[in-house]
Amino acid sequence: MKFEKLAKYFERLEATTKRLEMTDILSELFKSIDDYEKEVDKIIYLCQGQLLPVFKNVEFGMSEKLMHRAIVEATGMPTDKITAHFRKKGDYGETAYDLCCLHPATKTVKDVYEQLNTIAQATGSGAVAKKVGILAGLIRQTSPLEAKYIVRIILGKLRLGIGDATVLDSLSLACAKNKSLRGKLEVAYNRCSDLGLVAKILFTQDFRYIENFKVIVGCPVRVALAARLSSPKEIIEKIGECAVETKYDGFRCQIHKDGDKVTIFSRNLENTTHMFPEIQEGTVKQISSKRAMFEGEALAYNPDNGEILPFQITVQRKRKYDIVEMQKRFPLKLFVFDILYVDEWGDVTGQPYRARREIMDKVVKPGEVLELSPFKIVKTEKELAEIFDKAVRAGSEGIVVKRLDAGYRAGGRNFNWIKLKRSYEDKVSDTIDGVIVGYFFGKGQRASFGIGSLLLCVLDEKSGGFKTIAKAGSGLSEDDLSKLKRILDKCKTATKPKDVDSLIRPDVWVKPHYVTEVQADEITRSPIHTCGKTNKNMAGFALRFPRIVKLIRTEKSVRDATTVKEIIDIFKIQGRRK
Ligand code: ATP
Repeated sequence: MKFEKLAKYFERLEATTKRLEMTDILSELFKSIDDYEKEVDKIIYLCQGQLLPVFKNVEFGMSEKLMHRAIVEATGMPTDKITAHFRKKGDYGETAYDLCCLHPATKTVKDVYEQLNTIAQATGSGAVAKKVGILAGLIRQTSPLEAKYIVRIILGKLRLGIGDATVLDSLSLACAKNKSLRGKLEVAYNRCSDLGLVAKILFTQDFRYIENFKVIVGCPVRVALAARLSSPKEIIEKIGECAVETKYDGFRCQIHKDGDKVTIFSRNLENTTHMFPEIQEGTVKQISSKRAMFEGEALAYNPDNGEILPFQITVQRKRKYDIVEMQKRFPLKLFVFDILYVDEWGDVTGQPYRARREIMDKVVKPGEVLELSPFKIVKTEKELAEIFDKAVRAGSEGIVVKRLDAGYRAGGRNFNWIKLKRSYEDKVSDTIDGVIVGYFFGKGQRASFGIGSLLLCVLDEKSGGFKTIAKAGSGLSEDDLSKLKRILDKCKTATKPKDVDSLIRPDVWVKPHYVTEVQADEITRSPIHTCGKTNKNMAGFALRFPRIVKLIRTEKSVRDATTVKEIIDIFKIQGRRK
């Protein structure tokens, strides 16, 4: 496919905010691909502004300053002229479009992809000049429209608003003329987190490969998540006999072992391997199988007395620098709670809880770092309540209850796992992870910080967009306000972000980028919020007395925020409690 053809699709996608329209355009694009084997994956990554799936951590390493240099080099124009034009347009994509020469469009998607890849791969001494040189050369040989999108991809500013859900719908539409394949495609995607790979298999192999898609060592599985219920009674009524484990408050690690090579993915599927050397070593020593994939919660402990330390300390291990020093002060233990793959048994995600536990017993050898998370099988509400009370008294945040006959369901929050956290009496018993989409200047003393409260959204899993649920300001210290102002101003935008649905207009809009943790007293119905508002006359849901409890949840991306469905579930739980 010619890259210009793809750029024209980008133009059409950019012009719409309607998801159905986007789905139609994308499916038309997928149908028009010439060589599925070589192109479909690249086209999907590029549509999402990437070169490879996010977990591969590919970065172009080009700032706006370097982009400026590349455009100067490509156009031969004086730097002042480029600066003046950029100031007027506020976008280097538009600047390149307006100022680069009228070269005919001759490049293919493959040509451009390869050049982009070379830019991303350039590291070490001389890398900057190399990146600028290749990009300038590329811009010189492309049409203005092509240059505009190449520039935006490199700066991470393509932002066509194409979520994973839209890609999955479009793939189904392109192949089956309707959305009937969506469910199966999503299951496959949840098992590998790579939309390009799923699309390639869909278009080039028998559909049975999608239906029987197996997890792959090296590709993170989208993590299973827990639903909420509010009491032991409700849990037993819902799933009957079950296994109970402590809910550890550290960070989740999904570990892939391939011989001596160990890769550690976070809850968000980021590659965090380099941060946890002892978990790498522990895995090589304690996992008997050559290749395996398993999950656990990493917790810091006091090396003098073995005592497990609170989350505030554990979280200090999530850093890029001084790792050796931090490892000495706060070494980690990993409480292994699930297993997904082992060479001897293959993909074990379809096996029930007990079988996976038996496999874990066989595969995890005793040692210093990995420890199996203890579990107890219970039948009654009373037994469950006792374990919960004991866990809370021991300082844990609660328990995770697991269905005995269920497999590991990748990418889903459902009742195979149920979390029961310390209750806050009648208050909403779990915190909400809200996405910051704007802020208000605030009044009185707060006005002096330039920020008083935040407009928060939850994720609408149906549309892939964000719906407002609260305006929250309390819980923020003066330090927090200054810090927030600094980070939010880096992603402010003049108009409402495309994927935000809001009836409220904050003083400043910000692109959905950050997740904050909020505690609330109650979920109430509200006409001014769009969460759960299905038509104009219907009220939505809002948080009553929201308080920020964790400023920015760095371990969560906006795709991991609380969803509209979860809010409705919490609202129902609250109703039952009353
Ligand atoms: P939270 O914000 O409550 O940590 P979450 O959205 O990250 O929740 P949930 O599905 O609500 O995820 O809760 C499951 C999380 O609990 C897992 O992501 C994992 O990190 C943690 N966890 C701690 N102990 C266990 C355990 N024994 N089994 C499964 N998950 C556990």
